[in-house]
Amino acid sequence: MDITKSKKLFSRAKEVIPGGVNSPVRAFKSVGGVPRFLSRGRGAYIWDADDNRYIDYMMSWGPLILGHAHPKVVEAVREAASAGTSFGASTAGEIELAEMVIDRFLAVEMLRLVSSGTEAAMTAIRLARAVTGRELVVKFDGCYHGHSNGLLVKAGSGLATQGLPGSAGVPESAARGTISLPYNDLEAVWKTFDKRGEDIAGIIVEPAAANMGVVPPVEGFLNGLRMAAEKDGAVLIFDEVISGFRVARGGACELYNIRPDLVCFGKILGGGMPIGAVGGKREIMERLAPAGNVYQAGTLSGNPVSVAAGIATLRELETPGFYERLNNTTKKLALGLEEILTEAEIRVVINRLTGLLTVFFGEGEISDYQLVQNCDMDRYARFFRGMLDEGVYLPPSGYEAWFLSSAHNDDEIERTLKAAGNVVEELTTNEYE
Ligand SMILES: *Cc1c(COP(=O)(O)O)cnc(C)c1O
Repeated sequence: MDITKSKKLFSRAKEVIPGGVNSPVRAFKSVGGVPRFLSRGRGAYIWDADDNRYIDYMMSWGPLILGHAHPKVVEAVREAASAGTSFGASTAGEIELAEMVIDRFLAVEMLRLVSSGTEAAMTAIRLARAVTGRELVVKFDGCYHGHSNGLLVKAGSGLATQGLPGSAGVPESAARGTISLPYNDLEAVWKTFDKRGEDIAGIIVEPAAANMGVVPPVEGFLNGLRMAAEKDGAVLIFDEVISGFRVARGGACELYNIRPDLVCFGKILGGGMPIGAVGGKREIMERLAPAGNVYQAGTLSGNPVSVAAGIATLRELETPGFYERLNNTTKKLALGLEEILTEAEIRVVINRLTGLLTVFFGEGEISDYQLVQNCDMDRYARFFRGMLDEGVYLPPSGYEAWFLSSAHNDDEIERTLKAAGNVVEELTTNEYE
């Protein structure tokens, strides 16, 4: 595979962009090899600067549930952009998008649009602290809620991939405001609430974790969080930046039938354009300025182009059978990979939800970050490089979810499985290299 242009671009980028990338995982540090510079995408496919084509399972890390350059989304963006890309004043589209989210999420009575998932989580935490008058936040190991100070404690993929314990530059005081507990461990939650319940402002959780690879909640976990939060008057925040509109029309809230107090959104909500949002109970949301005294603002918040892409995307998700089809495709890929790898006597566990899966090279039930870290990430790196050579672009880290879209059809799944079959031979023969 000729990757001359990507190589050249990467060296040029390293001169002017820290690490050559604008978000760490893009640098291929944990999987090795040359990061590809991409030039275009269509449906389930992407092309790099040397015009090599790949089946894409990264899909911009989640937003592209309809595939790359979906005609309806592109048209909506074109139309919105030609009417003005930003005003700094309100537009009707913002109301429409808020109404669409409220229609899909019982827990959401009001919505505030921001520009990223990071801001959404930051705002949710600020609200939780404001309504409770408390400071402490409970999160879970391996869950990622953006890169704000207090939430970078044991924050999953990006950090795990870099091998960093947290981040330099985060004041101890900010990290002290966060307690991180093992995911799926209700006992740890109850113990923490027994000791510190009256100091806890809120619990923030990925209700279907996908930033340490896909780790679904075990039965009773989310309900337990609901009860713990209620008992001591803490705010329960579901971070649905990935799971929202993906694992079901109404996200994990619908899938597991739980009603949190606040929900964070991003990714799919912007259809591939920058966006984030926080929504929830009216009495909490009305604390936000200018209705209330919790300050939050943004020059590009509710950007008309992002909003148009979001509306077009959510509309498309209403196609009858959309989620059933996405789930079938995901299942077909997961079962196919499992069969190929198991037949080659490679230990593998595949966790999946609708439109999301992770291939873990390990065994047993993988239900928390510790268990994820026990998996063979070197083997994932070899698998990744092999698949890339075969024209299949997996997420460049074993700590990430693979993202599927409605543009992934039987043909793409079959090609992917064929590629995996070829790579498996190398995986087993080169094992001790
Ligand atoms: C991606 C992500 C974020 C951060 O969103 P950005 O738009 O990258 O700031 C927050 N929470 C979760 C669960 C995410 O997956």
